[in-house]
This record gives sequence, C-alpha cells and structure tokens, in this order.
Amino acid sequence: MTEAGQATPIYGRVALIGLGLIASSMARAMKANGLAGHVAGHAKTPTTREVALELGFCDTVHDTAADAVRDADLVVLAVPVGAMQAVAAEIAPQLKPGATLTDVGSVKQAVVDAVAPHVPQGVHFIPGHPIAGTEHSGPQSGFATLFENRWWLLTPLPDTPAEAITRLRALCEGMGANVDLMDPPHHDLVLAVTSHTPHLIAYTMVGVAEHLRRVSNSEVIKYSAGGFRDLTRIAASDPTMWRDVFLTNKDATLDILGRFTEELFALQRAIRMGDGQMLFDYFTRTRAIRRGIIEAGQDTAAPDFGRAKGSTA
Ligand code: NAP
Repeated sequence: MTEAGQATPIYGRVALIGLGLIASSMARAMKANGLAGHVAGHAKTPTTREVALELGFCDTVHDTAADAVRDADLVVLAVPVGAMQAVAAEIAPQLKPGATLTDVGSVKQAVVDAVAPHVPQGVHFIPGHPIAGTEHSGPQSGFATLFENRWWLLTPLPDTPAEAITRLRALCEGMGANVDLMDPPHHDLVLAVTSHTPHLIAYTMVGVAEHLRRVSNSEVIKYSAGGFRDLTRIAASDPTMWRDVFLTNKDATLDILGRFTEELFALQRAIRMGDGQMLFDYFTRTRAIRRGIIEAGQDTAAPDFGRAKGSTA
C-alpha cells in the first residue's frame, strides 16, 4: 500500500524495470503523491536490488523482470536504450491485457522499433521520455522532485486508446511534469539539438583537455573556470546510457553535428579574420536563447547556476 495516499492512485500496481536515477525518482514521486497502489521493481544486478530494498522506495523487489510485471497495470522500462529489446522480450508473455507499457528512454524511434514487435495484443505501448535528469546514476541518486516543472514527452503510436494516454499523462502530471505529445522521429531530432549533441560536445571538450597532458593533472583542474567546469559535469554522465543514445539516435545526431561543424568553422573564420562584428552579433543571438530558457522556467538566472561560492557540485 502507498504510505502517502493523498490522492486516489492512478494505477493500482506499477512495475519498474531498472531501478536507477529515473525509476527510483519515479518510485519516490509516486509514493510522495499517492499515485500508485503498489510499486514493484526489478534491476539486473543483485547489488542494485539490495540497495533498492534498503532504500525502501519500492514495495517489493523481484529477482526477475517477469515476476515484477505480473499483474501490473503500468510497466515502466527504465533501462538503457540498448537493453530495451531484451527486457521487452522477457516480460511480454507476463503482461496483463489492458495494461499500459511505457519507457523512459532518451531516444524514441529506436525504442519503438525494439519494443513494439514484442507487445501483445491488448497491451497499450506508449513510449515516453522525461526531460529531467542529472549526471548521477543508480538507485541512491533519485529524488521525488526530479520531474517538477520538467517536460515529459509521450510519443504514442497510432491507434493507442485515448483513455490510456490520458491516464499516463495524469501520472506524469501527478509527479509534477508538464506533458506534450510528439511523434518519435521529431522527438529524436529535437533531443539531438537540445541534449544529445551538447553532450557530445562536452565529452569532446573534456577529452581535448585530457589530451593536453602537460596541464591536465594540474592547471586544468586548479584553474577550471565556469565554462569548463560546466562541461565536465555534463561529461560525467553515465557512459552506458550515452553510448546507447549515440548508437540509436545516429542520423539526427550526425545531422546536427554537421550543422554544428559548419557554425564552428564560421566562428573560426571570424576569429581568424578579426571579424568582431560577426562574433558580437552571434553571441547576442545566443544570449537571447539563454534568456528564453530562463523565462520558460527551465533554469535559474542565478550567477554560476546558483552554486555556492567555491562549490564544485
Ligand atoms: P541508471 O541510473 O544507470 O539505471 C539503469 C538501471 O537499469 C539500473 O538499475 C540497471 O540495473 C538497470 N538495467 C540495465 N540493464 C538491465 C536489464 N537488462 N534488465 C533489468 N535492469 C537493467 O540509468 P537512468 O539514468 O535511470 O536511465 C534509465 C533510462 O532513462 C535510460 O534509457 C536513459 O536513456 C533514460 N533517461 C535518463 C536520463 C538521465 O539524465 N539520466 C534522463 C531521461 C531519460 P543494475 O544497476 O543492476 O545494472
């Protein structure tokens, strides 16, 4: 039974497959808001299952995914994108008719291709992606407010009953998120711009600094300025998750990287030619984008992202 119970649960029984940052945040948010009657969980390794049991964000933790999903009204796949197909194949025979199956993967078309063929008749598969996260992973890193005022994109397939979408939307909103619907390829292009390519750029820049061996062990760390520090935070993100993102959102990421390279060459040329006007105009336009993000409530305008002075968090 839910401990909080302020609201009528939206789903009687929810099964979370994968118990890392996203799933453990969902479990905590569902409990805090009384959104699920029972939360069952499964993760791949006994260690994670034990930690999840100790932390107590699930009502039950199961040794197999098939056991966890039995009788569930909602099943959430919260594993790396590359693991979705195997998990879907394993749980498919246990899914209850009328149940909803969703996922939280950062790429959508590849998840549709991997999961949809396994979904039995009468089970509603509604792919999803919460645009919320941190560079931390694992069950300890989750928290109940992760999704507050963040977007949760759902990419339903044609013929999905409207009631099933409405119910899943209510769950996401109950966790504090704003919900939008999109088709999977459009999602993948948008996220290639807003998340995937920026991560690749951060990984690259931190890699460049790492290659400057002479300074990497001392000056780069000692004198790390805001820009580099922010990139190192992004570049500390989970290697498995991000490997899978680039392997599965290949076309959109390569498209955006091509555009990025063209812009980079234009700026490189402006620097070489001493074209200050071009640089000034360019930076004025990008500054307006930052303002737009703050006005939309998606980040803080506090200097240095509100970090305490001297903080390295
Ligand atoms: P995470 O903290 O690394 O957790 C991943 C979980 O998946 C772990 O509990 C892991 O179990 C489990 N797992 C992996 N393979 C499995 C399998 N074959 N069967 C069962 N469990 C398996 O990752 P996360 O950040 O929560 O990410 C989960 C999903 O959310 C990914 O698809 C990611 O793309 C998406 N997402 C992430 C973010 C973000 O910022 N992190 C944001 C939005 C969406 P073990 O610990 O036992 O290995």
